[in-house]
Amino acid sequence: MNLILLGPPGAGKGTQAKILTKKYDIPQISTGDILRNAVKQATPMGLKAKAFMDAGALVPDEVVVGIVSERIVEADCRNGFILDGFPRTVSQADALSAMLAANGNKIDHVISITVNKNDLLRRITGRRTCRSCGKGYHLEFDPPKTAGVCDECSGVLFQREDDCEDTMRKRLDVYEQQTAPLVEYYSNAGLLRSLPGDEAIDVIQSMIVSILKRDA
Ligand code: ADP
Ligand code: ADP
Ligand code: ZN
Repeated sequence: MNLILLGPPGAGKGTQAKILTKKYDIPQISTGDILRNAVKQATPMGLKAKAFMDAGALVPDEVVVGIVSERIVEADCRNGFILDGFPRTVSQADALSAMLAANGNKIDHVISITVNKNDLLRRITGRRTCRSCGKGYHLEFDPPKTAGVCDECSGVLFQREDDCEDTMRKRLDVYEQQTAPLVEYYSNAGLLRSLPGDEAIDVIQSMIVSILKRDA
């Protein structure tokens, strides 16, 4: 099963992808996580991507398309994958279809999560992430048992630098301009399933699972 989670920053893509990964035993492919890792390791790709990410802009298509084309052919993607944060432009979506078609493969479901802007801002400002295992939390909506400490691995929680007010507004504009057209793109392809994202995490998870069952 090849799944795309589509939605603005803060919609809950990463949160849902992590739960789905465990349930279906297929990997989450987050281009944001892969890029942040490359920045941390100061690889040539990370050095190139950093300025775009700090500014809340998209990293050039050829960089992220390159990341995904290498990642989806790895052994753990044999039974499928969950794309979280890719594609973000029509050109990325076209490139994805082409690379899958070349292997006789395709996207099975595109799940679009919609959340109003005020809630997105609250979600992004309260987002915290475990530095060791990457698990996501929210100060208000999904807090850890002990403040600042990961429930699963006792790692330290941190706030992403691009989750500050200014950059976050820029990222929401970029979503509207460059990524929102994918809603129509995948709707025209007959693949889009839309969900209201302003429900609790477990409610949204059940909605996704019923869509996947129904469409299976
Ligand atoms: P969020 O979870 O808030 O939507 P991500 O972690 O997906 O954010 O992305 C963080 C940043 O990484 C983006 O603002 C962008 O600079 C870069 N990025 C991630 N995925 C892509 C992509 N598919 N195309 C271009 N840039 C990307
Ligand atoms: P995305 O990957 O789409 O940028 P995340 O999954 O990182 O979004 O979620 C953004 C923030 O909102 C995180 O702090 C997460 O804990 C929180 N969150 C995710 N889903 C919900 C939800 N349904 N209700 C309230 N908060 C949520
Ligand atoms: Zn952890």
